Amino acid sequence: MERTKIADLRQHIGEKVKVQGFLQTLRDQKKMQFLILRDLSGLVQVAFWKANDPALAEKISATPTESVVSVTGTVVDNPIVKLGGLEIQLETYEVIGPAEAPIPLDPTAEALPSIDYRLDWRFLDMRRPPVTLLFKVQTTAEAAFREYWLKHDFIEIHSPKLMGSPSESGAELFEVQYFETKAYLAQSPQFYKQMAMAAGFERVFEIGPVFRADPSFTSRHMTEFTGIDMEISYIESHEDVMRFLENMLQYVYQRVKDAHDEEIKQHFGVDLRVPSVPFPRITMAQALEILKEVGYQIPPEKKGDIDPGGERALADYIKRTYDHDFFYLIDWPISVRPFYHMRHADQPHLTKSFDLIANGTEIVTGAQREHRYEILRQQAIEKGLSIQSIQFYLDFFRYGCPPHGGFGLGLSRLLMVMLNLPNIREAVFLFRGPNRLHP
Ligand code: ATP
Repeated sequence: MERTKIADLRQHIGEKVKVQGFLQTLRDQKKMQFLILRDLSGLVQVAFWKANDPALAEKISATPTESVVSVTGTVVDNPIVKLGGLEIQLETYEVIGPAEAPIPLDPTAEALPSIDYRLDWRFLDMRRPPVTLLFKVQTTAEAAFREYWLKHDFIEIHSPKLMGSPSESGAELFEVQYFETKAYLAQSPQFYKQMAMAAGFERVFEIGPVFRADPSFTSRHMTEFTGIDMEISYIESHEDVMRFLENMLQYVYQRVKDAHDEEIKQHFGVDLRVPSVPFPRITMAQALEILKEVGYQIPPEKKGDIDPGGERALADYIKRTYDHDFFYLIDWPISVRPFYHMRHADQPHLTKSFDLIANGTEIVTGAQREHRYEILRQQAIEKGLSIQSIQFYLDFFRYGCPPHGGFGLGLSRLLMVMLNLPNIREAVFLFRGPNRLHP
């Protein structure tokens, strides 16, 4: 007999079905047993008259919760049943994946253990419906990004994650043994996205792993994360990139809202707002003025940069002033941007770059890139990079390369802000941090 998903049972009233899933709870009464079964699509109540088969009743009683069971029975319409107004009258019962008791993490418990403990038992933690929902939302969001890119003639690339030289700077770099020599794990697909521009691909995207040897313990950093990256040619400035990004994010939010609005409200208490476009834009110079006005002091060691507290203070200001959850922070000083960001012709101390702040957290960095070989080379020297190790990259710009720009967005950061989660560890399948490599 074929398995029926719990969510589809209403279409089978009066029929015999087979359902398979976790035994969430068992209410063992004097004459009857009520089992709650859970599969990915929902919950159903299964009822059994003990007198029908006392030996089977005993087998049911002895099954630890969270075991995987297979049940056949008849679906009956029963308005009294809270779960969807129907139940299955059990005919056969089999334990196909027994659980040991006690279970180290009960996915149905009201009180949640600490995040660290939950990460130790992540597969049990992920049985909780809000976590399952998060990955359904992630799937919808990623599909929406892809749809949007494909509608706009993008080419998908998969760039290598093992590199012979660093892609950004020497900092935050993982070194790995590579036969007789050393390799580095890619800190971003930056160089290769730009290589695709030099190859004439015009518009590319990549969704792939990014590695950062960042030893800090914050609520928004991981040592490995999924990067959502794109790069486009024939732009006039970073404004073209920002325009594309805001329209795409609006599309992604709308798709997520269409697919999961009610569930997101139920499990995360979030009423998802599809952002209006254009997003507000403020320059770094304006941002510093605003922070002064609201009395926020950036820690002195952050010279030219804005710390997370500053981002939140600016987000509050934007929310009050424009009623918007997103804003672009543009025109960053060269001191806090990589060498490949293009500089303003009339203000050479500023880059044609942006960060996107969503609900007070940075989720994207982007820029127009410098595509003129000599200038790019000069900027690399200024930043103290070894020209020899990046010559392969500089070569991309020697034989005709269109003006271009793009961005990198952290997938888990996006989910974190979308679902209002306090910590990025909640927004990723398996967290990787300075002291977490397991499971
Ligand atoms: P931050 O200032 O938050 O450390 P960054 O400026 O180093 O980030 P970029 O190198 O610009 O980040 O990377 C682009 C995007 O990738 C970020 O906006 C963020 O969404 C994501 N990202 C960067 N570093 C991490 C990380 N360690 N863990 C998770 N996501 C990250």
